Amino acid sequence: MVGCVSLVRAVPKQHIRNVWEARKVPTEFELLDKEDPFSYYRGKSEKFANMTPEDRVAKLIRIGFPIAVTSGLIALYYWREEVQKRVPPLAPHEHTQTNWSGTRAVSTKRFFQPETLEELESLVAHAHRSGSRLRPVGAGLSPNGLAFDKDGMVSLAHLDKVLSIDPANRRITVQAGARVTQVLEALRGHGLTLQNLASINEQHMGGFVQVSAHGTGAGLPPVDEQVVAMKLVTPALGTLSLSADSADPADRALFRLARVGLGSLGV
Ligand SMILES: Cc1cc2nc3c(=O)[nH]c(=O)nc-3n(C[C@H](O)[C@H](O)[C@H](O)COP(=O)(O)OP(=O)(O)OC[C@H]3O[C@@H](n4cnc5c(N)ncnc54)[C@H](O)[C@@H]3O)c2cc1C
Repeated sequence: MVGCVSLVRAVPKQHIRNVWEARKVPTEFELLDKEDPFSYYRGKSEKFANMTPEDRVAKLIRIGFPIAVTSGLIALYYWREEVQKRVPPLAPHEHTQTNWSGTRAVSTKRFFQPETLEELESLVAHAHRSGSRLRPVGAGLSPNGLAFDKDGMVSLAHLDKVLSIDPANRRITVQAGARVTQVLEALRGHGLTLQNLASINEQHMGGFVQVSAHGTGAGLPPVDEQVVAMKLVTPALGTLSLSADSADPADRALFRLARVGLGSLGV
């Protein structure tokens, strides 16, 4: 703005007048009251009032459409900025994750550890929108490094709470990042334990279930068989509450599949 003002002042007045007169001035300009600085706009508004309704609509579209598009783009830009802010920043250095036996390793800058369900949802939604890969990782015990992905990983190490225990129905609700050992500790106080266990108890409950760990008892069902309900944060469908008791057969089928998804259907 300051630049414009000083540019006008730098041009000789005579020059401005020449340019002004050389312009093809619209008819209503000739009717202007030179003393009244607003007469030009009044002329415009009278011209608009005399237009046919069709011409008025066409004119409004001609003016309004670019304004609407520009406003929409600005709103979209700020909305994306806002969404970006809700995604935790990348690690300043590459995070290296190694499996328990040290046979597999991966390094990535996109290693996320959300602390709330909302953070996890926002992260998964962001990965979906931006088309970036995000693989859930548990305790990294799998000998084949199944959960490792240099393009991005999400660990639920901070979502590790035992939420409730219902001794009467022998049910426990835990966050997927809770380790098996924590769950056993919480159950012990109620004289309960898990039906099937492996020879090591460091797994996240999420990883333990998602690989359908066979545990140790040949006559016992794999651990996913003990799951009666689960919450799954998916990329495209948001957060799903799935359960064995669902009235909808399609939901029950999805529940069975999602229990052993190897981290590919959601977190
Ligand atoms: C020394 C040792 C002894 C073992 N003994 C036994 C045994 O006796 N019996 C047995 O059955 N197994 C055994 N295992 C295997 C072990 O139980 C599995 O590798 C383990 O269950 C994987 O759990 P994790 O948390 O380490 O998952 P990870 O290895 O980190 O991940 C495994 C899979 O689960 C997915 N995943 C992890 N967390 C989530 C989540 N929150 N949401 C969605 N997907 C997720 C990952 O994407 C990946 O596909 C043993 C492993 C070791 C190292």
